Amino acid sequence: MLYDKIAIGQPIKRCAMMNSENAKILAIEDDPGIRMCFVAFLEDLGFMVIEAENGARGLELFDIERPDLVLTDLNMPVMDGYGVISGIKERNPEVPIVVVSGAGAVNDAIEAVRRGAWDYITKPVQSLRDLQEVIERVLKRSKQIKETNAYQRNLEVLVNKQSEKLQVLESFDNITGLPNRTRLGDIFYEAVTRKHFSGNVAILLLQINSLKFVNETYGYEFGDHLLVAVGKRLVELVRDPNVISRVTGSKFAIMTVDGQNLLSLINDVIKIFDTPFSINMHEFFLGVSIGVAVFPVDGESLDRLLQSAETAMSEATLLGKNKYLFYSNDLSLKVQKRLEMENRLRHALQRGEYFLQYQPKFDAKTHLVVGMEVLVRWHPTGEKQIVAPSTFIPILEETGLIDQVGEWVLRTACAQYVKWRSEGMSPLKISVNVSAHQFHSGTLVNMIGAVLNDTGMEPSCLCLELTESIVMRDINQTLETLQTIADMGLKLSLDDFGTGYSSLSYLRRMPFHEIKIDRSFVMNLPHEKNSVAIAESIISMAHSLNMTIVAEGVETKEQLDFMVDRQCEEIQGFYFCKPLRVEDMSAIFSGMACIRYCVATA
Ligand code: C2E
Ligand code: CA
Ligand code: CA
Repeated sequence: MLYDKIAIGQPIKRCAMMNSENAKILAIEDDPGIRMCFVAFLEDLGFMVIEAENGARGLELFDIERPDLVLTDLNMPVMDGYGVISGIKERNPEVPIVVVSGAGAVNDAIEAVRRGAWDYITKPVQSLRDLQEVIERVLKRSKQIKETNAYQRNLEVLVNKQSEKLQVLESFDNITGLPNRTRLGDIFYEAVTRKHFSGNVAILLLQINSLKFVNETYGYEFGDHLLVAVGKRLVELVRDPNVISRVTGSKFAIMTVDGQNLLSLINDVIKIFDTPFSINMHEFFLGVSIGVAVFPVDGESLDRLLQSAETAMSEATLLGKNKYLFYSNDLSLKVQKRLEMENRLRHALQRGEYFLQYQPKFDAKTHLVVGMEVLVRWHPTGEKQIVAPSTFIPILEETGLIDQVGEWVLRTACAQYVKWRSEGMSPLKISVNVSAHQFHSGTLVNMIGAVLNDTGMEPSCLCLELTESIVMRDINQTLETLQTIADMGLKLSLDDFGTGYSSLSYLRRMPFHEIKIDRSFVMNLPHEKNSVAIAESIISMAHSLNMTIVAEGVETKEQLDFMVDRQCEEIQGFYFCKPLRVEDMSAIFSGMACIRYCVATA
């Protein structure tokens, strides 16, 4: 038996498991007898066997045959077993190597394992079973390692793919597909660290106005369509290498890196808002407010630049639609003060810092008091001065705090009115201002109902003053709300008339009882021709619509005479009386004081 050359002991048992593997084994052995013996034995076990008589030939065959396992002797001519080990490790470290060493050379075998052999077996092989076991064990381990490696490679591919996707998500806005702030940051960094940096980097921060209103009225999907449409128009405008990005919500940023003329770019941006955006058969006129910050004076990082641009943009918003501002340090101070005020306003109501003043309205002919307008005042704790409504009402509006404050005003005024009535005051019209936020909040009607109910106020004596800009938004919903309020028995007054662009056809459909001519027209009467023409046309229009006309801001006898002459019914203004504190009003109603007194001290 050939086997005897390598094995002493029991005969070999076939191993079924090995057959199924059909593994290919390269046997490298210089002794032809032992080699043949290995071949015969391994073939008997069901392996495919390739044989080589020395290490060099072994490596040649390794390259051609790509075996699953290498069985190699250590002492061989031409190239020994160590050469085989390093050659195979270089070629494919995943292929297991089992060394066969002489009986007295266990140290050599250990050295072989240290160099990369997986296992060893000593010659003569005591039992072929041992060889079988070693090969089985090594192949099993190799299979596991291969599987683990393949799994890890797959995982890597998967992770790479995911991270590519993630990078897209991380760098681009998912609504408009434009670069987002992170990507803008990368582009900014590339621009300012470029070798031949031109030094020209500026940020235009664009706030799209009315988008909040569209979202609230038509839903977010509509808003998203609008953002995409705006993005498309902006992309057409911004030339390479400048970038347009959507930074958050309704804000876009244009970063110019090529010294493009900023003023002409700003004009172009504003121009694209001249044409309405049409979405699902609806047309929207949007506006934009722009803040500009220039590198490096307004900020040395993108964050700082955006912050400066934001400051400028917030201020530009206050100037009206389609306005822009360049950042300056003064602005930053102003914004800081505004933020401080906002913080204080958040606690003003619970600290009882608000109070009301009442400005009487007079019959133009008889000069009798026919009503009064309620005006809120804010006296911050610890401050000497009260703050003018024109300063804090816009902040209350923007923050939405106006809803609570407005409710407090209405409730306090109604309760006071009921008190005055119980003290003998004859029925008068009491007018309360309602802001845009309150009107469109969706809770106004219920709030009014609750206040009437809680205070016992007569609805027919309560009048709400609304400005044109409030009612020219979302006409159908507005009409419904106005009608509901009118049906509750309240009066409605169109405030600051002439400053907006109300069309007569809309006004005809709205249940207004009264129009107030804005103070800006009254102020220049009777000498300024334009104001005369406007005041006269407003009066005749209001008369044709059967509305009462109130002239506000009447300060002189001449202005009063003008109004009386044109049949204007009611007068409000410093000529007769400034807004009064509740105790002064009470004095008038109780007969303790008269209006002359008010004029004298106001
Ligand atoms: P408005 O509704 O147009 O109120 C009339 C403003 O004109 C008041 O200013 C009043 O004091 C002022 N005024 C009246 N007669 C004359 C006059 O002869 N000459 C001059 N120079 N001014 C006169 P005020 O109290 O500063 O209020 C400013 C604005 O703040 C109001 O304008 C109104 O829009 C808003 N506001 C005041 N109180 C409230 C409130 O309770 N709720 C809301 N939403 N807004 C309010
Ligand atoms: Ca008013
Ligand atoms: Ca007014």
